[in-house]
Amino acid sequence: MTGTVMEIRDLHLRFPMGRSPADYVTGRPGRVVNALNGVSLDLIRGETLGVVGESGCGKSTLARCIVRLYTPSEGEIRFDGQDVFGTEQRADRAYNRRVQMMFQDPYSSLNPRMTTGQILAEALSVHKMRPDAKIPARVAELLELVRLSQDAQHKLPHEFSGGQRQRIAIARALAVEPEVLIADELVSALDVSVQAQVVNLLLELQETLDLTILFVAHDLRLVRHVSNRVAVIYLGRIVEVGDSETLFSAPAHPYSQALLSAAPSLNPDERGKAVKLEGELPSPLNMPSGCPFHVRCRHATETCKTTLPVLLPFKGRGEVACHHVEEINANA
Ligand code: SF4
Repeated sequence: MTGTVMEIRDLHLRFPMGRSPADYVTGRPGRVVNALNGVSLDLIRGETLGVVGESGCGKSTLARCIVRLYTPSEGEIRFDGQDVFGTEQRADRAYNRRVQMMFQDPYSSLNPRMTTGQILAEALSVHKMRPDAKIPARVAELLELVRLSQDAQHKLPHEFSGGQRQRIAIARALAVEPEVLIADELVSALDVSVQAQVVNLLLELQETLDLTILFVAHDLRLVRHVSNRVAVIYLGRIVEVGDSETLFSAPAHPYSQALLSAAPSLNPDERGKAVKLEGELPSPLNMPSGCPFHVRCRHATETCKTTLPVLLPFKGRGEVACHHVEEINANA
C-alpha cells in the first residue's frame, strides 16, 4: 500500500427540513438533519477501509457523498489531490469512472429488461472502455473475472440468485476499470454462506486489480475479516480509526468499546465482558453539545458536555476523539 488516494476533510452534510405548522406559529426556523458533522478520513491506496457504526450514524451518507450522490454543506473530498466538488472536477466524468459504488440491492440498479451481456456492454460503451468490436470479448472476460458462466450474458437479472446478481454488479463496476470501490452493505441482504463467497471474491479481485475499497457494513465480524483499517463513526463523526486487528482486539474509544462488545463474539473468553451501550442514538435533528456521545457514555465529565473532542493519535495505534482516552485505557 502506498500513498493517500483520497482525503476527506471536515465533511458536513445538513438536510434542511421544511417548517412545520408549529414552527410557523412559534416563529421557529425549520429544523435541520445533521447527517455528517465534520468527517475527516484518509483512504490509502490498495487498502480496504471498513466503516462501522450503528444504523443511522452516517455510514451510507458518507459513502454517497464520496460518489457525489450528495453534495456536502462544508468540507472537501480530494481525490489524487483534486477537490472532487470543484467546478472543473464536477464536469469531469472521469471521477465517476474511477470511483465506483456498489449497493446492497443490485436488483434495483440493474435494468430488469437488459440481459447481463447488454448491461456490461453498455457500461463499456458509455465510458468508451473498448472499441465496439472488442466489447464482446471484454464482456466474456468480466464474467470470468466474477466467476459467472458465459451463458449468464443471455439472461435477465431476475433469472439470477441474490449472490449472482451481486457478482453482476461487481462485474459492471469493474467494467470501467475503477481505482476505488465503495461497497455499501454489499452483502447484507445475502445468506451467510453466500456472503462469504462474494466477499472472498472481492478480496481476490482487490489483490489482482490493485483496488482500494471502502467497505461500509453493520456486520462487525465481516468488517474485521475484510478490512486493513477500520473507522468507527458516531452521529456523523469519526470517533476512532486504526489498524483493524488492533481496533477490534482493543478498541480505545468508549463508543467503539460498547459497539464491539455488543456484537456476538465467537470467543467464549470474551462473552460476559460486554460494555453496555446505553440509551438510543440521539436524533441528528437535535445534536448533543460537546462530545456527541456524552449522553450515553459512562465516563462523561463536565468537559465532555461542553467541548467537542478532536481525533488525535493515541499510543501509536490509530486516532481517537475522546477527552479521557488516556485514563479510560490506562490499564490496556
Ligand atoms: Fe465519553 Fe467524554 Fe470520551 Fe465523549 S469525550 S467518549 S463523553 S469520555
